[in-house]
Amino acid sequence: MSRTVKSASHTDHVVQFYEDDGFLCQEVGRFLGAGLGRNEATLVIATDKHLRGIATAMETAGFDLDGARASGQLVELDAEEFLHRFTEGSLRHGMPDPDQFDRVVGGVVRPACADGRFSGVRAYGEMVDLFAERGNVAAAAKLEGLWNQLGREHRFQLLCGYSMGNFRRSEDFEAFQHICSVHEHVRPAETYDERSSHADQRRRIAELQQRAYALEAEVAERRKLERTIVEEQERLLEANRRKDEFIALLSHELRNPLAPILTSLDIMDVRGDSSSRREREIIRRQARHLATLVEDLLDLSRVASGKVSLQKQLVEFASIADTAIEMTSPLFQERHHTLELSIPTEGLLLEADPVRLPQVVGNLLTNAAKYTPVRGRVAVRAERRGSEIVVTVEDNGIGIPRDAIADIFAPFVQGRQSIDRAGGGLGLGLTLVRSITQLHGGTVTAESDGPGKGSRFVLRLPAARAAAPVTRRIVRARDGNGTRAHANGKGALPDRRRHASSGRRVLVVDDNRDAALALTHLIGQLGFDVRTAHDGAEAMAVSATFGPEVALVDIGLPSMDGYALATRLRGMRDGAPLRLIAITGYGQATDRAKSMLAGFDAHAVKPVDLEVLRGLLANLPKPALG
Ligand code: ADP
Repeated sequence: MSRTVKSASHTDHVVQFYEDDGFLCQEVGRFLGAGLGRNEATLVIATDKHLRGIATAMETAGFDLDGARASGQLVELDAEEFLHRFTEGSLRHGMPDPDQFDRVVGGVVRPACADGRFSGVRAYGEMVDLFAERGNVAAAAKLEGLWNQLGREHRFQLLCGYSMGNFRRSEDFEAFQHICSVHEHVRPAETYDERSSHADQRRRIAELQQRAYALEAEVAERRKLERTIVEEQERLLEANRRKDEFIALLSHELRNPLAPILTSLDIMDVRGDSSSRREREIIRRQARHLATLVEDLLDLSRVASGKVSLQKQLVEFASIADTAIEMTSPLFQERHHTLELSIPTEGLLLEADPVRLPQVVGNLLTNAAKYTPVRGRVAVRAERRGSEIVVTVEDNGIGIPRDAIADIFAPFVQGRQSIDRAGGGLGLGLTLVRSITQLHGGTVTAESDGPGKGSRFVLRLPAARAAAPVTRRIVRARDGNGTRAHANGKGALPDRRRHASSGRRVLVVDDNRDAALALTHLIGQLGFDVRTAHDGAEAMAVSATFGPEVALVDIGLPSMDGYALATRLRGMRDGAPLRLIAITGYGQATDRAKSMLAGFDAHAVKPVDLEVLRGLLANLPKPALG
């Protein structure tokens, strides 16, 4: 950059860089003191701190400042206060006003230059530094220009101070160069002593050059490292994304065989074969356990990909708790725990997803039951505290070591294993608890006094503000133990006679042959006339001759998907009633909406529960006559 100082200037315009305030005050004190010694008028515009430091430096050197102030030889102005007055806009973005500058600074310099009592004028200013400190280098440069302008009209010596700290980034080099270019003389900061011998100065320059070189090399090395870190981060993110995709795929694939296994068990139940009853129960229990694990995995990948959207409604917390307790009561019974509840039936209204929030409370209850030795005690308390609903699930179980508490909400983290490993999970329960709680705008924390001292999980959820109509509490009847048999659990054998020879025609379309076969058998056992197809073309061919009244269609079919097939099947029925039921592995609200849009009448998630299937096949419209 070229030097832009005008040669026409009468002023000696010098810039002093500094690192330490003490050094600056000494240098400025020396500069102004020399002026006082030569009977020159002196003007100092500095921050309050520097004004005091400079005065001390001059007083220490033996100058009578009070006398100089009284005679007008020394004028001191507060730079900060002064700058605020004559900057238009903020110091960070504004510009100095030339008229104000001329009025105030010119108003001191001009008369001093004309005052016959003084042999000359010298000034020190650091308003420029205050602009530079705020990154407003343009304003600093403009101010320097105003000083130079004044210097062309009047002869005086001018010293400006700039802190090195205002140019600490390598990108500041250009601004630094510019500041140097608008001054005639540049005085380096204290690391370079101008008063030392020429030989010492050269040595010092060499040292500083080495330091600059080493720092630049280090910066380059760091930049390289930063790039490597960024690349590594991207690689890890990519690996994590692939892992999430794999988990999503894996859980879908694992879910598919579970559907026919559970349906086949239902078929066996319908047949009423009592010799294998015990084994069937074992298979069913284990398959359900597997299904729960797979559901957790699926949920994790949904949460990870942001696919969980809540269907919130206004509910009483008591109904959420009811559902959660109902879900987990078999485990409590099995482990002979006492469950103490302190949950008001009213007054704890919140906006919540009536499916997802019970999952949160259910997971906390399941853990409390799992991680508490048999015949333990689990207490659930819910209360309103200010704008929050605070739910505490407390047990007297194995507790959590202090150093483990921070991690237990992370995916796949498992602490000491449950007493009965068969009930163990994948370390995802609490991850889902936290994610779903956060989606509800709440928080969850864990507390424990240590191993063997029990655990306490505290859920904080925002209470609903509106006193709008409440969704009916979903209270279900319980037996004496506060539990209820699951809909498709033990003792839920269907009454075959009720459906016998109904003769209604059902078409099952699924490319998974086992799933199709199991479902076909089950529907057959329920007394329906049922046919099977494994792809769209076959389904249409069967439909043409069979004329189904109900079609259960898998969505993920090869070549023609379930949505397209639904439209074709409906078209083929020529106005005759056809109930279309989508049977898929996907049960999110968006999946259901898609099915409805495609013309399906119902949407069932695999594995289809026997009771759900009965419901779907019940109350078919009357068959068309002729
Ligand atoms: P999982 O139960 O499948 O291991 P979670 O995410 O539900 O996974 O829990 C993570 C870990 O936190 C558990 O392995 C267990 O060590 C600890 N933990 C959770 N709840 C409790 C509890 N109520 N008491 C003691 N430890 C618990």
